Amino acid sequence: MHVLGAVARNAVELVRFMWVDHSGVLRGKAVAADTLAGRMRSGVGVATVRQAASLLDQAQPVAGFPVMDEVRLMPDPDTFVLLPHSPGSAAMLCDLWTRSGAPWAACPRTFLRDAVGAAGALGYQVVAAFEPEFTLAHETGDGTELALFDDGLCLDNEAFDAANDYIVALSRALRSQGIEVEMYHPETSAGQHELSIRHAEALRAADNHVWQRAFTRGMARRRGMRATFAPVPRPGLRGNGNHLHLSLWRDGANAFAEQTGALGLSDLARHFIGGVLAHLPGLMALTCASVNSYLRLEPGKWAGAFGCYGPDNRDAAIRVPSTLRGKETASTNIELKVCDATANPYLALGATIQAGLDGVRNRLDPGAPLTEDPNRLSDAELRRRGVRHLPRSLEEAVAALERDELLMAVLGSPRRELCTAVKRADVRDFKEMSEIDGYVVHSTRF
Ligand code: GLU
Ligand code: MG
Repeated sequence: MHVLGAVARNAVELVRFMWVDHSGVLRGKAVAADTLAGRMRSGVGVATVRQAASLLDQAQPVAGFPVMDEVRLMPDPDTFVLLPHSPGSAAMLCDLWTRSGAPWAACPRTFLRDAVGAAGALGYQVVAAFEPEFTLAHETGDGTELALFDDGLCLDNEAFDAANDYIVALSRALRSQGIEVEMYHPETSAGQHELSIRHAEALRAADNHVWQRAFTRGMARRRGMRATFAPVPRPGLRGNGNHLHLSLWRDGANAFAEQTGALGLSDLARHFIGGVLAHLPGLMALTCASVNSYLRLEPGKWAGAFGCYGPDNRDAAIRVPSTLRGKETASTNIELKVCDATANPYLALGATIQAGLDGVRNRLDPGAPLTEDPNRLSDAELRRRGVRHLPRSLEEAVAALERDELLMAVLGSPRRELCTAVKRADVRDFKEMSEIDGYVVHSTRF
């Protein structure tokens, strides 16, 4: 098996079996290299309540949920990476299985697999990419301060140079582990950067994003720096988004593209947009999954705070990016802007696919695209154009999720109960905390 060979060749001592919990935190247990072959068959035991942990790491009570039980971390060999920032360690991403060897109904990766399967049943393959922004800081030891790494402007050559050694090392590390880097640029805020990974089949795209976050943070730490993907790491900073790009393909052709269609989109793409917009309030509990997420979603900040779609409209929740000349068909996609890196990417992407497919099955009409800057329109005018109200807080989003029958049905039990219990605990916990502590917790975890 290629994993065992790579472990031996690289003198790996410990192999982490990792998964992403409902708070979007990457967790796991490591096995000794010489036990790996057996562990890949048997998995590693983990208490069921780990999946009920809030962001403050307190297991939340959920009626009927088996507390005194275990599930198994079952690694996917296709996700194997050497961890460049942790010499001697390698890692794989895992599905959560029951002790009897079936996928567990609360497993996030299985949720995305099921969503991909639902698209497959309609004849489509899902192609996706996450496009995260993050903030780089110096390690200061004082958790309440963020000493930003550079004071560059957006796309500024000075910021390129300031962060060059780190970014080049990060790019090399990602590529060395088969994660293809597409683009990089310094973003709007001082210390803010964006590195995007090439689009891939949906499960692979989510896995790539998990490793990107881990490498970005781990490599910063090793250099005496800090990297955070928190939506708003400190008051006054421009938000970090994690825009989600999506398209459906059939027989190797992009089924979202139709050059003669409005905005170059097929009816399939329009219906998919209709579905995502219809479910967006509830969906946001999974794509903007933390209390901190809602600090980012301010109008005029290009975070997609308006419930509509439009061509290259950066304040619309769904942007239809202009295509690349010569690659018009292949580069057609939609971009969900109301997504950030506190989301569990498997839940966020899986639920977005399910919402879009609901639109496809029911031929939901997204209405006319918004071609103007929504910030220049009055509330009455926004309403007249069908711009939807979006949640202003995690609390509002969770309530919308609980009302969304489709999303609750596809999440299934006990995933939906665990997920909403964890989010409600976060709402309560962060209300009780000082404002600055809330920022610090998010930027430390993410
Ligand atoms: N930082 C913006 C956000 O919060 C996005 C800026 C851009 O890439 O257009 O989503
Ligand atoms: Mg950006």
